[in-house]
Amino acid sequence: EGASNAQLSAIDGIAKEFDLTVEKLREIIKYFCNEMDKGLEKTGMNVAMIPSFVTGAPTGKEVGTFLALDLGGTNLRVCEFTFEGEGVVKSKQHKYRITEAQRTGSGRQLFDFIADCVDKFLAEFVTDYSENTKIFKMGFTFSFPVEQTAINKGTLIKWTKGFTCSDSENKDVVFMLQEALNRKGVPAVVSALVNDTVGTLLSHSYKDPKTFIGIIYGTGTNGAYYENISKIKKLNKIPDASGKMIINVEWGAFDSEKKIIPITMFDNKLDRESNNPHSQIFEKMISGMYLGEIARNIILHLIDRRLLFDGYSSKDLNRNYSFETEYMSVIEADGSHTLDDTKKVLEESLNIPSTTLTDRQIVKRVCQIVGLRAARLSSTTLAAVIIHCGVVECGVSVGIDGTLFELYPHFSARLETALRELFGTNFDKVKISLARDGSGVGAALAAMLATE
Ligand code: ADP
Repeated sequence: EGASNAQLSAIDGIAKEFDLTVEKLREIIKYFCNEMDKGLEKTGMNVAMIPSFVTGAPTGKEVGTFLALDLGGTNLRVCEFTFEGEGVVKSKQHKYRITEAQRTGSGRQLFDFIADCVDKFLAEFVTDYSENTKIFKMGFTFSFPVEQTAINKGTLIKWTKGFTCSDSENKDVVFMLQEALNRKGVPAVVSALVNDTVGTLLSHSYKDPKTFIGIIYGTGTNGAYYENISKIKKLNKIPDASGKMIINVEWGAFDSEKKIIPITMFDNKLDRESNNPHSQIFEKMISGMYLGEIARNIILHLIDRRLLFDGYSSKDLNRNYSFETEYMSVIEADGSHTLDDTKKVLEESLNIPSTTLTDRQIVKRVCQIVGLRAARLSSTTLAAVIIHCGVVECGVSVGIDGTLFELYPHFSARLETALRELFGTNFDKVKISLARDGSGVGAALAAMLATE
């Protein structure tokens, strides 16, 4: 039967609200460049531009064994890396899932859990652990905004990505981790604290010296790049003003005053109902934690107007965050004429009583609208950093990690299309590659650079 006029006009109206023309992208970039300058000048700015205190870049010749801990948003990874020079790395690693209770309990409980995981990892995967008397050096990847004051010191500014652990904001995360390790008697010393973007950048530089920016599109989104130390005006004691230091941009917080990026009622509903309203606005439009929820808000709106599923929702679909970003991946990848995988998601995973082909086509369109805006918006901060550094002419490599970039259909193609619209043929000089699980190696490299 096909979509009705009411359905078509509703969906076209929504598409328009989510549309980002290249002119709009340029406006956003200009605004963001200014935000970066402000962040380099003063602490406490919205785009925080946090100095990482990582000043060296790896040469690829490094040797030694180091532990790495990676607290992302969804998992905790514990790894052991052995560097053998000539760019060779051997690793052992294990993932531990973080539960809702750990995300929302006390800080002490979270860090005790982390120390437990390290202990279990060493017992299970490091063969000579029990008779070993050595003290492991560890790099800690901590992917939340931290005001760093040294390579192994940094206070948590605020939790993001659904974490709300008590008694930990404004405290030194290295100290909290070290205390937990000591309580458990784990023979490890935390020598470096890095953001996951910094880790991703370091590990990608280890493989490709032309790398100048590392990015995450995962549970959240953020980036890090090499900045001239002389340009980091807010640094008091400048280590060596002629060199470069990695800056953790913290771009997830960009436009939290909602001034430049067109925001829809669906974004506002998500923001209002989130556990961190008015913050991480950019991240909330882009990252894996939130895309499904934006799509769900649109779907519910269409249901309420009786333009979808004959006006019937389900208990499951009515639950916040029940429409997972992973479902969007399945739906966007569904190429069958009858949209069978989409039907499965809607009728089996979300228990919608029945769906027509038109319903499923509309849901797919909703996913495309939300996914396209996320990818186009992602191009702005990347382009801004490239412009800020004036590096496009000399050829640059970009290392990107995160499930969204890796698995969401068309995300990388849409991102590249937007960048090509912005840079024209100069975009040929930008090499974007997947830097899978780089932040762990990066943390180990940072621990090595810190203790050299
Ligand atoms: P982190 O950023 O925590 O290190 P990931 O990069 O693995 O972790 O990202 C996890 C996020 O990716 C979650 O928010 C999840 O919703 C989302 N996600 C998981 N699977 C998929 C998928 N197939 N397609 C898109 N997003 C996904």
